[in-house]
Amino acid sequence: MNPSKREQIFARWKAANPNPQTELAYNSPFELLISVLLSAQATDVSVNNATKGLYAEADTAAKMLELGEARVRHHIRTIGLFNTKARNVIKTCQILQERHGGVVPDDRESLEALPGVGRKTANVVLNTAFRQIAMAVDTHIFRVSNRTAIAPGKDVIEVEKKLLKFVPEDYLLDAHHWLILHGRYVCVARTPKCTECNIADLCEFKKKTKSESAKSRQKKKAGGLKKVSDKLSAAANKKVTGKKKVAGKKTLKKKAVAGKQ
Ligand code: SF4
Repeated sequence: MNPSKREQIFARWKAANPNPQTELAYNSPFELLISVLLSAQATDVSVNNATKGLYAEADTAAKMLELGEARVRHHIRTIGLFNTKARNVIKTCQILQERHGGVVPDDRESLEALPGVGRKTANVVLNTAFRQIAMAVDTHIFRVSNRTAIAPGKDVIEVEKKLLKFVPEDYLLDAHHWLILHGRYVCVARTPKCTECNIADLCEFKKKTKSESAKSRQKKKAGGLKKVSDKLSAAANKKVTGKKKVAGKKTLKKKAVAGKQ
């Protein structure tokens, strides 16, 4: 994809949504960190439902430790992998207390040293809480980057590197949110909503979905072509049958002549 197309894509996303936000509910870097940690293999809605009660009781690392693993587990029991996640929340809070005075660190190395915090989670926290340029490539960003050809890559690291390299500078800080939202609501996994997509003319995906009217036009055209081809083969059959009849007549004539002799 050429740079001008990328520029136009992000300009359109920005015009449609100038301040894109994460859909996770949080009031501090600490709450964001815990929410992102809980969001692995879970929807933002399910995480928000669980953290509402959790953060009402414990909105700091110290309070979370006081609450204890069993209560954390109880609050997040509706989320997948809640046993492991409850354990990681408590371990993370212990490290935050011991090494960082209860404050969420704003560097990748310290974040990735926390239990349950991988590169993607660290990127979300760095970008969303601390407004640093970082690309947290999840399944949506990976799909959109590849389909559109904004930043094609065979794995998340390659896509992350290409996004950092190719996304125009003015849009780097919020690119992660626009890409996620586009993948979540428009360029969805199974059947992308290409007919509703505001970047369809710039996207380089070869198998874009078609509108219902375009589909029915195509069906009609296919039907028309089939009729023509049916007619042609019927005509060809007729010709062959006709030839056979003539050939049959000639044979009979020959036999008749032979009989007379
Ligand atoms: S045109 Fe289709 S494939 Fe391309 S970004 Fe839009 S929804 Fe995705």
